Amino acid sequence: MGIKGMELKPCPFCGGEAEEYSTTGSLLSHMTYWTIRCKTCGGHGEITTHPKSATEAWNRRYEPPNEPLTLEELREMVNEPIWIVFDGSDHPKGASHWYLFHGYLSGTYVVTGFIDTWKLKRSAYGKTWLAFRRRPEEEK
Ligand SMILES: [Zn+2]
Repeated sequence: MGIKGMELKPCPFCGGEAEEYSTTGSLLSHMTYWTIRCKTCGGHGEITTHPKSATEAWNRRYEPPNEPLTLEELREMVNEPIWIVFDGSDHPKGASHWYLFHGYLSGTYVVTGFIDTWKLKRSAYGKTWLAFRRRPEEEK
Protein backbone atom coordinates (compact mmCIF):
# COMPACT_ATOMS: atom_id res chain seq x y z
CA MET A 1 0.00 0.00 0.00
CA GLY A 2 1.36 3.43 -0.90
CA ILE A 3 0.22 6.88 0.03
CA LYS A 4 -3.39 7.74 -0.77
CA GLY A 5 -4.20 7.62 -4.45
CA MET A 6 -0.76 6.48 -5.56
CA GLU A 7 -0.43 2.96 -6.82
CA LEU A 8 2.78 1.10 -5.99
CA LYS A 9 4.23 -0.89 -8.85
CA PRO A 10 5.61 -4.38 -8.19
CA CYS A 11 9.26 -4.84 -7.21
CA PRO A 12 11.61 -4.23 -10.19
CA PHE A 13 13.92 -6.98 -8.94
CA CYS A 14 11.56 -9.87 -8.20
CA GLY A 15 8.02 -8.71 -9.06
CA GLY A 16 6.95 -8.96 -5.40
CA GLU A 17 4.51 -6.71 -3.57
CA ALA A 18 5.98 -3.47 -2.24
CA GLU A 19 5.23 -1.35 0.82
CA GLU A 20 6.03 2.08 2.15
CA TYR A 21 8.67 2.19 4.85
CA SER A 22 9.73 5.09 7.01
CA THR A 23 12.22 5.64 9.79
CA THR A 24 12.61 8.61 12.09
CA GLY A 25 15.44 9.88 14.21
CA SER A 26 18.65 8.29 13.03
CA LEU A 27 21.95 9.09 14.70
CA LEU A 28 22.51 11.91 12.23
CA SER A 29 19.15 13.62 12.09
CA HIS A 30 15.64 13.80 13.52
CA MET A 31 14.04 13.81 10.12
CA THR A 32 11.76 11.08 8.85
CA TYR A 33 13.09 9.18 5.86
CA TRP A 34 10.92 7.26 3.45
CA THR A 35 11.50 4.53 0.98
CA ILE A 36 9.53 1.79 -0.74
CA ARG A 37 10.66 -1.71 -0.11
CA CYS A 38 9.74 -5.14 -1.33
CA LYS A 39 8.02 -7.49 1.11
CA THR A 40 9.55 -10.49 -0.66
CA CYS A 41 13.21 -9.73 -1.40
CA GLY A 42 13.75 -6.63 0.76
CA GLY A 43 15.05 -4.61 -2.19
CA HIS A 44 14.31 -0.93 -1.77
CA GLY A 45 14.18 2.25 -3.78
CA GLU A 46 15.53 5.72 -3.19
CA ILE A 47 15.56 7.02 0.37
CA THR A 48 13.80 10.37 0.43
CA THR A 49 12.39 12.87 2.91
CA HIS A 50 8.89 12.66 1.47
CA PRO A 51 6.70 9.59 0.85
CA LYS A 52 5.45 10.94 -2.50
CA SER A 53 8.95 11.19 -3.98
CA ALA A 54 9.80 7.72 -2.65
CA THR A 55 6.75 6.30 -4.43
CA GLU A 56 7.49 8.17 -7.66
CA ALA A 57 11.11 7.00 -7.67
CA TRP A 58 10.03 3.41 -7.04
CA ASN A 59 7.42 3.43 -9.78
CA ARG A 60 9.90 4.85 -12.32
CA ARG A 61 12.14 1.82 -11.86
CA TYR A 62 9.44 -0.64 -12.76
CA GLU A 63 9.26 -1.74 -16.38
CA PRO A 64 6.34 -3.91 -17.37
CA PRO A 65 7.25 -7.11 -19.26
CA ASN A 66 7.58 -6.46 -22.98
CA GLU A 67 4.62 -8.57 -24.07
CA PRO A 68 3.12 -7.81 -27.48
CA LEU A 69 0.56 -5.02 -27.10
CA THR A 70 -3.06 -6.05 -27.17
CA LEU A 71 -5.17 -4.15 -29.70
CA GLU A 72 -6.82 -2.31 -26.80
CA GLU A 73 -3.43 -1.24 -25.42
CA LEU A 74 -2.28 -0.22 -28.88
CA ARG A 75 -5.27 2.08 -29.36
CA GLU A 76 -4.29 3.99 -26.22
CA MET A 77 -0.80 4.71 -27.59
CA VAL A 78 -1.77 7.50 -29.99
CA ASN A 79 1.27 9.67 -30.85
CA GLU A 80 3.59 7.30 -29.00
CA PRO A 81 6.43 5.27 -30.47
CA ILE A 82 5.87 1.55 -30.90
CA TRP A 83 8.16 -1.17 -32.17
CA ILE A 84 6.56 -3.17 -34.97
CA VAL A 85 7.72 -6.62 -36.02
CA PHE A 86 6.74 -7.81 -39.50
CA ASP A 87 6.82 -11.45 -40.54
CA GLY A 88 7.81 -10.61 -44.11
CA SER A 89 4.54 -11.29 -45.93
CA ASP A 90 2.85 -7.84 -46.14
CA HIS A 91 5.98 -5.83 -45.34
CA PRO A 92 9.64 -6.87 -45.40
CA LYS A 93 11.08 -8.21 -42.15
CA GLY A 94 13.72 -5.50 -42.42
CA ALA A 95 10.97 -2.91 -41.94
CA SER A 96 10.67 -4.04 -38.30
CA HIS A 97 11.59 -0.93 -36.34
CA TRP A 98 10.17 2.08 -34.50
CA TYR A 99 6.97 3.69 -35.74
CA LEU A 100 4.83 6.49 -34.46
CA PHE A 101 1.29 5.34 -33.90
CA HIS A 102 -1.32 7.81 -35.18
CA GLY A 103 -4.60 6.11 -34.53
CA TYR A 104 -7.19 3.59 -35.55
CA LEU A 105 -9.12 4.32 -38.71
CA SER A 106 -11.74 2.05 -40.33
CA GLY A 107 -10.11 -1.31 -39.67
CA THR A 108 -6.51 -0.13 -39.93
CA TYR A 109 -3.83 1.11 -37.57
CA VAL A 110 -2.03 4.11 -39.06
CA VAL A 111 1.71 4.28 -38.34
CA THR A 112 4.59 6.39 -39.64
CA GLY A 113 8.14 5.15 -39.96
CA PHE A 114 11.22 7.01 -41.18
CA ILE A 115 9.83 7.30 -44.70
CA ASP A 116 6.37 5.89 -45.11
CA THR A 117 2.99 6.07 -43.49
CA TRP A 118 1.34 2.69 -43.47
CA LYS A 119 -2.14 1.44 -42.73
CA LEU A 120 -1.84 -1.91 -41.03
CA LYS A 121 -4.85 -4.19 -41.08
CA ARG A 122 -6.47 -4.99 -37.77
CA SER A 123 -7.35 -8.46 -39.08
CA ALA A 124 -3.66 -9.19 -39.72
CA TYR A 125 -2.54 -8.28 -36.20
CA GLY A 126 -0.68 -11.19 -34.60
CA LYS A 127 -0.33 -12.82 -38.05
CA THR A 128 1.78 -10.53 -40.22
CA TRP A 129 2.59 -7.78 -37.71
CA LEU A 130 2.91 -7.28 -33.96
CA ALA A 131 3.50 -4.15 -31.89
CA PHE A 132 5.62 -3.77 -28.72
CA ARG A 133 6.32 -1.00 -26.21
CA ARG A 134 10.05 -1.62 -26.49
CA ARG A 135 12.36 -3.24 -28.97
CA PRO A 136 12.11 -6.99 -28.24
CA GLU A 137 15.86 -7.63 -28.82
CA GLU A 138 16.67 -5.33 -25.90
CA GLU A 139 15.22 -7.87 -23.48
CA LYS A 140 17.72 -9.56 -21.19
ZN1 LIG B 1 11.53 -7.91 -4.57
